[in-house]
Amino acid sequence: MTLPVRRALAFALGAALVGAAAGSLPGLTVAAAPGPGLDLEGIDKAVAPGNDFFAYANGTWLKNTEIPADKAGYGVGAQVFDLTSRRTIEIIKGAEGGTDPDSRKVADYYVTYVDQAAIDKKALRPLQPTLGRIDGIVDATTLSRFLGWTLRADVDALNATNFYTDHVFGLWVAQDFNDPTRYVPFLMQGGLDMPDRAYYLDESERMAKLRKDLKGHIGDVLAFTGTGNIEARAEKVLELETKIARAHTAREDSEDVKKANNRWTRKDFDAKAPGMVWQEYFTSAELAAQPEFMVWQPGAVTGISALVASEPVDAWKDYLRFHAIDHYAAVLPEVVQEERFAFHGTALSGTPKQRERALRAVDSTNFALGDAVGRLYVAKYFPPAAKARANAMAQNLLKAFDRRIDTIAWMTKATKKKAKAKLAVLKVGMGYPDRWKDYSGLEILKGDAFGNLQRAETYEYQRNLRKLGQPVDRGEWVMTPQTVNAVNLPVMNAMNFPAAILQPPFFDAERPIAMDYGAIGAVIGHEISHSFDDQGAQFDSQGRLQNWWTEEDKAHFEAAAAKLVKQYDGYKPFPDLNVSGKLTLSENIADVAGLAVAYDAYRLALGGKPAPMVEGLSGDQQFFLSFAQSWRGKLREPALRQQVLTDGHAPNEYRGDTVRNLDAWYSAFDVKPGQALHLEPIDRVRVW
Ligand SMILES: [Zn+2]
Repeated sequence: MTLPVRRALAFALGAALVGAAAGSLPGLTVAAAPGPGLDLEGIDKAVAPGNDFFAYANGTWLKNTEIPADKAGYGVGAQVFDLTSRRTIEIIKGAEGGTDPDSRKVADYYVTYVDQAAIDKKALRPLQPTLGRIDGIVDATTLSRFLGWTLRADVDALNATNFYTDHVFGLWVAQDFNDPTRYVPFLMQGGLDMPDRAYYLDESERMAKLRKDLKGHIGDVLAFTGTGNIEARAEKVLELETKIARAHTAREDSEDVKKANNRWTRKDFDAKAPGMVWQEYFTSAELAAQPEFMVWQPGAVTGISALVASEPVDAWKDYLRFHAIDHYAAVLPEVVQEERFAFHGTALSGTPKQRERALRAVDSTNFALGDAVGRLYVAKYFPPAAKARANAMAQNLLKAFDRRIDTIAWMTKATKKKAKAKLAVLKVGMGYPDRWKDYSGLEILKGDAFGNLQRAETYEYQRNLRKLGQPVDRGEWVMTPQTVNAVNLPVMNAMNFPAAILQPPFFDAERPIAMDYGAIGAVIGHEISHSFDDQGAQFDSQGRLQNWWTEEDKAHFEAAAAKLVKQYDGYKPFPDLNVSGKLTLSENIADVAGLAVAYDAYRLALGGKPAPMVEGLSGDQQFFLSFAQSWRGKLREPALRQQVLTDGHAPNEYRGDTVRNLDAWYSAFDVKPGQALHLEPIDRVRVW
């Protein structure tokens, strides 16, 4: 199976954390989690704050910390990620003794999934009903019926941002761009075994080698079904996938929401995309009564549909056998998993060894029963008092942002009104959703790992189908509370800050508020500002796809941004390589805005009272130190170079130096002209 890859749209926490999520082994890292307050021992007092604030705040920690051998980088993000993984594993294992139905399901799902011996004993038998259906395909009609049966809610263009499905199409049920009061089904392209069309079409040596490996992989998988002529059949399947890849829209175009606003009626499918017998497809997808769809990549729908008619049924059948086995490899015998991993893990991603079964079982349990696990997680690690404090912080941030809209110079009066309307409806969710997902209809059987996974996928699909025709629920979350991440949901005008990101060093309900505002407060401010920048300008207060800026606003915004481009162009992590102020501009604007708004909100929260001193540090000093320590992290040179060249986020140390744009930082640390980070007041950037 393919677990959904979740990447936040406007993820604010940088490469140290992303690297951790992608490559770490949860539960195996020994480094201690950061403490709740500031790490005063990590400070390097030999560095003047005005010369290198990041090194001042983190220098001793940086000197004493080795990047673990299995990681490209390390920092607070990785520490929090590892800690949360350990806790989640404990919770899932501990659910065994639970008495409520959801705890039972969590426990049964997990213990069944880890029991590889029992799975091996069943061989491919659990897949037989699916393989039998494939055997029964004889023409375009029966093929269309089968393809419709594979449609799942496994993609998400704007919220969880997942463009990949191994089925020919994926479904995403979300707010209608043009009428945000209702849900509409979005149909998105899929059907490739490798991650993207470029893998099939690019002429580079590496891609050519991967295609050769894929052909071998297809053959080895088909051989599990036992019949002959494997090599020629694998060749046909690869040919079919290559044709699907040719029909696909390139990733850059898929990410352009303006190209995705294509409303098709049910009849349009027959007229614009002949080949697929759409009536059969939609009937077995349980969408026969749906009058309209949004087609994210119309070229792909037309192209893939034509292949249903033009390609030999036998090639399709082998393609489907291959995909069915590959998709469910995780709950099939070990030899099938090893075959899948040799290609998907080792050949495609360079990972030599598969993570242990128990950790993959945790991932799969989170996929199938994420909110049930999340409910147990927050009961233990995110008490109501923490949620209340996080909510109060969010409210102060919104208030501070509202005041900033009043005073910014670049935005026209009419646009300010629209910005305020959008701010007024913004729903900043903290910790966990108001309503949990209901799993009462999901059957989890002890001893049926395959069926459990298949039913979980179907259950999620049907949960999404049920949304059609219902009022839009802006309180729905796209992340589980145990996810170390945060996400901006642009169409819903909502944000999710899961409980797992609301922990030290980002947040702690027990410490002075200055530290929370400096760390997670700046992240929340960063995400809020994305709803109002050139990207956020695409969706109005209702979530309608409609640019609400004037040309004048845009020009003013760009002029204010030009100073920031120059500031970041000046950062040189290597003598031969500087940060690109242009590439990182949107994120840098959000960083400056986030920090400034967090500072205002922190002053608001004090309500005129003085901030308590901690270890001789004033409130403002705590605020800025906490900010710079929340960016604590280091990367190996190749990873840092790659980030500088390709990532829209600047490296952590420069994000920590955002402080130089705020007047309050100068007085808090007595920063003088001539020091490296000192900016003349006129060069300090204020976009918001
Ligand atoms: Zn961002």
